[in-house]
Amino acid sequence: MMNFEEIRSLDAEYIAHTYGRYPVAFTGGKGATLYGADGKEYIDFGAGIAVNTFGAGDAEWIEAVTAQLKKIQHVSNYYYSEPASKLAEMLCKRTGAKKVFFSNSGGEANECALKAARKYSFLKYGKGRAKIVSLKGSFHGRTLFTLTATGQEEFHRYFDPFVPEVGYAAPDMRDIEREADGSACAVIIECVQGEGGVNDLDPSFVRSLAEYCVRHDILLICDEVQTGNGRTGKLYSYEHFGVSPDIVTTAKGLAGGLPIGACLFFGKTENVLQPSDHGSTFGGNPVSCAAACNVLSRITEELLLEVQAKGEYLRAKLKGFDGVRSLSGLGLMIGIETAKDAKEVAARCLGKGLLVLTAHGKVRVLPPLNITKIEMDEGLSILKEVLR
Ligand SMILES: *Cc1c(COP(=O)(O)O)cnc(C)c1O
Repeated sequence: MMNFEEIRSLDAEYIAHTYGRYPVAFTGGKGATLYGADGKEYIDFGAGIAVNTFGAGDAEWIEAVTAQLKKIQHVSNYYYSEPASKLAEMLCKRTGAKKVFFSNSGGEANECALKAARKYSFLKYGKGRAKIVSLKGSFHGRTLFTLTATGQEEFHRYFDPFVPEVGYAAPDMRDIEREADGSACAVIIECVQGEGGVNDLDPSFVRSLAEYCVRHDILLICDEVQTGNGRTGKLYSYEHFGVSPDIVTTAKGLAGGLPIGACLFFGKTENVLQPSDHGSTFGGNPVSCAAACNVLSRITEELLLEVQAKGEYLRAKLKGFDGVRSLSGLGLMIGIETAKDAKEVAARCLGKGLLVLTAHGKVRVLPPLNITKIEMDEGLSILKEVLR
């Protein structure tokens, strides 16, 4: 086994330098406790950016994945496959969606949604209504279309020209109407913006937006890539807001640690995509889908109540800490505005054995949904010390 310095030097030499990494590598874990190559244990308040829904080393999940792995690891989309069929049924029955397209990542799920929105509008109204409106501060992915739809300037350096007909609105109806202006086919939102700094949208804005979209036959796309799959204490975060999106995208936590993306089409958009319109070699991979079936079957009403209770517990404790200015987010998706620099807080937490994330100047907490009280308390005590 390589030691940390060997791993780091190969990475520095051979991996494209797109990531700023913290100086640690992990060799294993159990739940929300990870084992470092340095021999230390770490409490995980990041879950691989909301991916490891049930943490590391989860026996039931490993059983579901390996059982499928022993059958067959991949089939092309020219053929049928049980795990994908079952997962699509589960997603539709749980949400009321009518059809699902599977991809491998959140960016691809959004790419699919944006393409489908343009086709929906083209079929019904012809040309001239291709515009996608996204919100300022949003994050929707790294493909050129989803990067264009990402409403943060710093992601847009170097890569122009961008996809035409994408506009950015502040989260208020006047700005939405100015941007949409008869030319929009869809508005894409995250009900809680993740990368943008764990910003909760105002529920009355989300409801007004949904009503406006219905009135103008503009599709409402909810990007649930980060907020989805139980993270906020509902299966999908739009459920907190009482709205009915036309398309929902999800990814990160859906398969609990294997690559997957899903684009869910509700009534109006059910049959927009037709043979050869869209595809993905790995989309619907049987191992990823078997993993996701296991994850979804365990996101029960009882688990969602636990997520809400754990979120409240963490918030109640954090509120009392010196150096905490404000809290945002829902459930186990928590943004902490700190008196100290967030990146410095994250680095110092790591040194003391706690992984936290940052997002746009805030500390961001996204633990596995099955984190234990002992793990929460250990993580909180490190955070308390570092924030003070
Ligand atoms: C992470 C994220 C994406 C991109 O997902 P990838 O799997 O990295 O392509 C898109 N939207 C939101 C809201 C995300 O948090």
